[in-house]
Amino acid sequence: MDLYEHQAKELFARHGVAVPRGRVAWSPEEAEAVAAELGGTVVVKAQVQVGGRGKAGGIQLARDPAEARAQAERIIGMDIRGHTARRVLVEEASDIAAEYYVSILHDRAGKGYLAMASAEGGVEIEEVAATKPQAIVKVEINPLIGLRPYHVNQLVYGAGLADEARGAAGELLARLYEVFTAADCMLVEVNPLVLTTGGQVMALDGKVSLDDSALFRHPELEELRDTFAVDEQEQAAKERGLNYIKLDGYVGIIGNGAGLVMSTLDVVAQAGGKAANFLDVGGGASAETMAAGLEVILSDPKVRSVLVNIFGGITRGDLVAQGILDALDRLGPKVTVPLVVRLDGTNAEEGRELLAESPSDKVVPAATMLEAAAKAVELAGASTAQVTTTQATDKGTV
Ligand code: GDP
Ligand code: MN
Repeated sequence: MDLYEHQAKELFARHGVAVPRGRVAWSPEEAEAVAAELGGTVVVKAQVQVGGRGKAGGIQLARDPAEARAQAERIIGMDIRGHTARRVLVEEASDIAAEYYVSILHDRAGKGYLAMASAEGGVEIEEVAATKPQAIVKVEINPLIGLRPYHVNQLVYGAGLADEARGAAGELLARLYEVFTAADCMLVEVNPLVLTTGGQVMALDGKVSLDDSALFRHPELEELRDTFAVDEQEQAAKERGLNYIKLDGYVGIIGNGAGLVMSTLDVVAQAGGKAANFLDVGGGASAETMAAGLEVILSDPKVRSVLVNIFGGITRGDLVAQGILDALDRLGPKVTVPLVVRLDGTNAEEGRELLAESPSDKVVPAATMLEAAAKAVELAGASTAQVTTTQATDKGTV
């Protein structure tokens, strides 16, 4: 779960990480009021969970409250690389002497944490990594030992931060590490970390990804939760108690059991298609669950066909079929895409008979998993000629 910049900075501030004074505003009027409260020149920043806001015009200086209002008016509703800004962060403008980069993240390969620093901040770090990798210092941190002063020195000296920035930047890194561990973060990133002309060191931007699985032990983050940007379908699935993950393809997938769903992703990829999601209805999938799952998947406008792949064990094929029919009934004309269904195992025969009696022309039976995938991909209008096997890794956390 990613935080917005203003939430990240709020979290930083709680742990003593220096950030500019400021507050979030949901309307131009509110932005004007915050600017008046702060006094002087402010910066109005679009709150979207995507980088490159500056270049897109989503970050503007305003010399007085009236100007802050006008800038907020321009920014709220603005589309930045596919994300609509619904709120702005209004904060004291800073006079920047130098822009740095620091981050702390999980390093799966190294089985620990990784801290990074660079004196080349303010630009996209991926660009620095590609063109000037030596400008980024990486230090492995053993979670059991934590971030120690020698790590901090390696980072601030190694990256070549200005003399007058090193002390405060080191202090800030230690506090950032505290944020990282205390809030169970997957990532904390500050780009840019600035040295101001007045000699202050501050986090001018903030990116925080929290570990969803650890959220339950953070009631203190609960207040941020209502404003998290959650995907609509993922939210709907959660409310229905479904195990759903959205991917970026166009073949909707429903299966029972995580293993079967994952192999279904693979065969869809093998058939040249791209999966739109991962949906495991689990063991003992009832008609109710099936209907709920289909509803969630069909609400994704990118879905052009659905592949239902059920292997009956505890799950009964006839109940699954009934669920599909119920869902078709309930959704009626909203079902505009074909549903390729492969049933096997317990009561599969009964299930297939039920489906065959369906008046809907949307249900397409398939005998095997591969045949089902090929049909689903074909019906989605995609080419079946191209074989790719990368789909299953699209979301490494599945
Ligand atoms: P991002 O482009 O979406 O990552 O947004 P950032 O928050 O990193 O801001 C982008 C750039 O805007 C920074 O690197 C700065 O150069 C500039 N910027 C942001 N805040 C201020 C400010 O208070 N004063 C000045 N002078 N520039 C700022
Ligand atoms: Mn940034």
